[in-house]
Amino acid sequence: MKAVFFDIDDTLYDTSGFAALARRAAINVMIDAGLPLESDEAYKLLREIIKEKGSNYDKHFNVLTKRVFGEEKPRLIALGMITYHNVKFALLRLFPETMSTLIYLKSQGYHLGVISNGITIKQWEKLIRLGLHHFFDEIITSEEAGAEKPDEIIFKQALDRMGCKAGNSIMIGNKFSEDIKGALNVGMEAILVNSELTEEERIYLEEKKIKLEVLPNLQNIKKIL
Ligand SMILES: [Mg+2]
Repeated sequence: MKAVFFDIDDTLYDTSGFAALARRAAINVMIDAGLPLESDEAYKLLREIIKEKGSNYDKHFNVLTKRVFGEEKPRLIALGMITYHNVKFALLRLFPETMSTLIYLKSQGYHLGVISNGITIKQWEKLIRLGLHHFFDEIITSEEAGAEKPDEIIFKQALDRMGCKAGNSIMIGNKFSEDIKGALNVGMEAILVNSELTEEERIYLEEKKIKLEVLPNLQNIKKIL
């Protein structure tokens, strides 16, 4: 049995791009309602808070108003949260080549899985909203595994669940340090998409004599699998 595992964020869809647009929209609505900052300044502050608290923290806007006003502003927080979610869901789309790539891989007899760092329900929500959940035989998150990519624990659990050997499986993701390194370490093949290798990563691969496929997008997967 052969299997292909995917990362979700910035691999199957443009998570970062949509999140940035949604944050911009939220900031602008909050400014319109009385947040006394320029748009760029507020956006920068929000990004700092997200970096500090992590993207899965759910009170970024609370912290933002607290920092600006010295206290939380419920009306502004609610406006920010609603706008962020509405814009994000309104924009939510797959990369244009994602659907046809998954259909192609299924037609070639691959079993498909997901290995994702994130909160289980949030990651399922993304797959369901994107209409992708039926494609995947196994979906494993770092929350379930108790370990994040590149830790081998999460990759081994995914392979176990799929009932597939590392040597017969391929990991596709956009982050070298998490998706690619982690997969190679357990003996899986890997393909880097939507990203380029840094000099350091190129040297790492050369030293280990690994030839890694690097593709600009998922479309080209059809040429190699
Ligand atoms: Mg990713």
